[in-house]
Amino acid sequence: MVETNLPILYLREVILLPYNEIRLEFTNASDLKILSISEKVYDNHILLINLADPLEESPSFKELPRIGILGKIKTKIELSNGITRVVISGIDRVEILSYVETNDITSAFVAPVKEYDYDEVEASALKRILYRKLNEYISISPYMSNSVIGRITDVKDLNKLADIIISELPLDYQNTIKYIVITNPMYRIKTIIEDLTKEIETVKLENKIEDNLKVKLEEEQKEYMLKEKIRLIREELGETDSKEEDIRKLREKMDLLALPKNIVKRLNEEIERYSFTSPSSPETTTIRTYIDWLMTLPWNVTTTDNRDVKKIEEVLDASHFGLNNAKKRIIEYIAVKKKTSSASSPIICLIGPPGVGKTSLASSIATALGREFVKISVGGINDEAEILGHRRTYIGAAPGKIIRQMKKARTNNPVFLIDEVDKLTKDYKGDPASALLEVLDREQNSRFCDNYIEEEFDLSKVLFVLTANNISTIPEPLLDRLEIIELSSYTIYEKINIAKYHLIPKLLEDYKVKNIKFTDLAIEKIITCYTKEAGARELYRQIDAIIRKVIISSNRKNSITIEASDIEGYLGMTKYVSNTNDENNKTGIVNGLAYTPYGGTLLKVTCTTYPGKGIITLTGTLGEVIKESIYIALSYIKTNSVLFGIDYELFKEADFHFHIEEASSPKDGPSAGVAIVTSILSLLKNKIISNKISMTGEITLRGKILPVGGLKEKLIAASTNGIDTVYLPLECSRELHSFPSEVKDRLNIIFVEDYEDIYRNIFKNS
Ligand code: ADP
Repeated sequence: MVETNLPILYLREVILLPYNEIRLEFTNASDLKILSISEKVYDNHILLINLADPLEESPSFKELPRIGILGKIKTKIELSNGITRVVISGIDRVEILSYVETNDITSAFVAPVKEYDYDEVEASALKRILYRKLNEYISISPYMSNSVIGRITDVKDLNKLADIIISELPLDYQNTIKYIVITNPMYRIKTIIEDLTKEIETVKLENKIEDNLKVKLEEEQKEYMLKEKIRLIREELGETDSKEEDIRKLREKMDLLALPKNIVKRLNEEIERYSFTSPSSPETTTIRTYIDWLMTLPWNVTTTDNRDVKKIEEVLDASHFGLNNAKKRIIEYIAVKKKTSSASSPIICLIGPPGVGKTSLASSIATALGREFVKISVGGINDEAEILGHRRTYIGAAPGKIIRQMKKARTNNPVFLIDEVDKLTKDYKGDPASALLEVLDREQNSRFCDNYIEEEFDLSKVLFVLTANNISTIPEPLLDRLEIIELSSYTIYEKINIAKYHLIPKLLEDYKVKNIKFTDLAIEKIITCYTKEAGARELYRQIDAIIRKVIISSNRKNSITIEASDIEGYLGMTKYVSNTNDENNKTGIVNGLAYTPYGGTLLKVTCTTYPGKGIITLTGTLGEVIKESIYIALSYIKTNSVLFGIDYELFKEADFHFHIEEASSPKDGPSAGVAIVTSILSLLKNKIISNKISMTGEITLRGKILPVGGLKEKLIAASTNGIDTVYLPLECSRELHSFPSEVKDRLNIIFVEDYEDIYRNIFKNS
C-alpha cells in the first residue's frame, strides 16, 4: 500500500486488531457521514484510531497515536430505529504520517508500517514458549476457550498469530491498546508471553482463594450437620437440652431471681429473640451470652453492713500494724458516710509506695464492713471501652471491667478497689479518666450504663477505694473528687513489727505450722540485707521462702528458732549492703536526700572543678531540672564570696562538673539546693563534709531555705543509711510530730532558715 488519505473513525473502549472483526452500531451523524464517505470514496476502507482516553471528545492531533488500524467495512445495515450496524474487519497496522481536517471530517495520510526481519530460530523458540503458556493458561482459566488453539494451528505468520491471540486475551482496554503500537511481531509475542505469565499467576491465586472458600463452606456445612445430628441423638436419648428446654429453664430462673422490672422486660425480649434465632446462626451464642449477663448481674442483691464502728476498728487493727492515721481517717469516712449518704461525698484514694498495704487495707475494709471485695487495675489503660465495655455489634464484645467485677462480686455494694489511677493514659481511643469519673460520680453512677449491657446499673452503693503511687500524675478532674489518704514508707522498726505480728503468723497459718520462730535480729537482717523497698512485699516473699525451706528440711515436730546467723543459709549471699553510705574522703561530696515513689534515698551530690572558662557540666539522671538549682547555688556563692572567704576571680578561670546520683523525680531538683551549695563550698574551701551529715531544702538567690516534701521518707532513708545529723528547712518543723519516733530518736535534726546557719555549723565550727 502506498501513501493514502483515509477517513478516521475514533474507537473508544473497543479495539479492532488485524485478522479480527468487530461489530459496531452508530447513531451519531458525524460517524454516519464518515461511514458513507468511506463507502463512496475509499472502497469501504477506513482508518480506526483508538483514543487513549476514551472520554476525550475532541482530541488534538498531537495527542493522537502514530499507528492506527486499516479496516474495511464488510457489511452495513440500516436498522429501523435509526441505528446503523456495521461489521468491520481489521486489515493491517498503518503508520500515520499526518492528520488533516477538512469540512469537519478528520482524515489522515497513512503508509504501511515498516517490515521487520527476524531470526527464524528465535521465532520458533518464542512460539514454543507461547504455545506452552497458552496451553497452561487454557487448562486453568475459565476466561479462554481452547478454540483459540484451533484458530492458530496452521498460522505461520507471526503477525497474524500474535493478533489472533491478543484478541482472545482477557485484557482490559488500556492493556490491549499497547498492542496496536507494537509493530515488531517478535516484540509483540514477547509481550503476550509476559501478559500470559501474569494472567496464569492471577488465575492460580483466584483458584486458590476459591478452593479455600469452598473448603470453609464445606466445613461449616459439615459442622452444622454434625451438630444437628448430635442434637437429634440427644433428643432421642431423652437428654433434651434443646433450645426449648433451655428457654424453659431460663424463664424459671428468671422468676426466682426477682429482677427489676426493666430487666425482666429486656430479658423477655431477648429470650424471645433467642427462641427465633436459628441454632446455626452465630447470633444465637451472642444472644445467649447476653441473657446470661443480664441474669447474673447483682441488680438488687445487697449485703447488710456491719455498723459497729468499734468492730470495724478492731478488724483493721488486727490485719494491719500501725497506719494509725490512715485507719482513723477510714473509720471517720465510714462513720460520716453512714450518717449522711451525701451524693457529693468524696472517694477514698490511698496513696503510697508499693507494698505499704494499700490493697490489703482496702480488702480489710471489706471484711470489717462485711462486704464483698473486688479489684481492677487501670494502669496503662488507654481505651475507655475497657471501663465502659464494647457495644454488642462489635466482634468479641464484652462488658467493661466495672461490670465484670460487679458480676464477680455477686452483690451491688462491694468494696471496689481501683488500682493505679495514676497510670491512666489518654489517646485517640478516648479518655479513660473521664470514663472513670462517670463510674465514681455519685450523681451519675446510680444510672451507670455499660455499652454492652445497655441497661442502667446502680453503682451508688459500691464503696470505691482508689490507689496510686504518685499523686502528681492522677488526672486533675479525678483528683478533685478524691479524699487522699497517704500511706508512707515503713521504718525498720515498723517492718520488724509487721513481720512479727502479721506476716509470720499469717504464713504459719497458711502452711498450718506453729513451731517456727524468728528472732528480731533475724528479721532485721532479712530487712536490711535482702530487701530494698518502701513496703513489705519483698519482706513477705523472703520470709515465705525461709518458712518453706524450714518445712521441707526439718522434722515438723521440733520447734525451730531462726537466728540472724541462719539467714544466709536460707536466702544465700547478702543482696544489699546495709549501709551504702560510703565514707566521704574527698571534698565536694555531700549527702542530699531524695524522695522516690519507692521510698526515700540518699542523694549524693558531687562537684569537681578544674581550670577553664566557667563552663558547667552536668551528669546524673536529673538533667535540665537540676540546672536551675546549680545556677542559683553558684550565683548565691558568688554574691557572698566575701562572707564565705572565697576569691571571686576563681570563678572566671574554672569549669565545674556536677554529678547527682540516685535522683528520680523532678522534685528532687530544687530540694537538692542546699546540698549543691554545700558541695561547692566544700570544694572551694577544701573541707571534707562528713558522710554522717545530710541535708534537704530548696535555696533562693538570697540564701533563704524553702520547705520541701517527702520528709518522712527522707528521714527514714537517712536513719537507715547511717546518717546522724540532718539539716531541714525551718518551716518543716511543723511536721515534726508526724515523724516516727524511732527515726527522730536516732537523728540530730537541725532546722535552718538561712544557708548561713548551715555554713556556721559546718564550716565555721571546725
Ligand atoms: P500495696 O497495695 O500498697 O502495694 P499490699 O497491700 O499488697 O501493698 O501489701 C503487701 C504486703 O504487705 C501484704 O502481704 C500486706 O498484708 C503486707 N502489709 C503491708 N503493710 C502492712 C501492715 N501495716 N501490717 C500488716 N501487713 C502489711
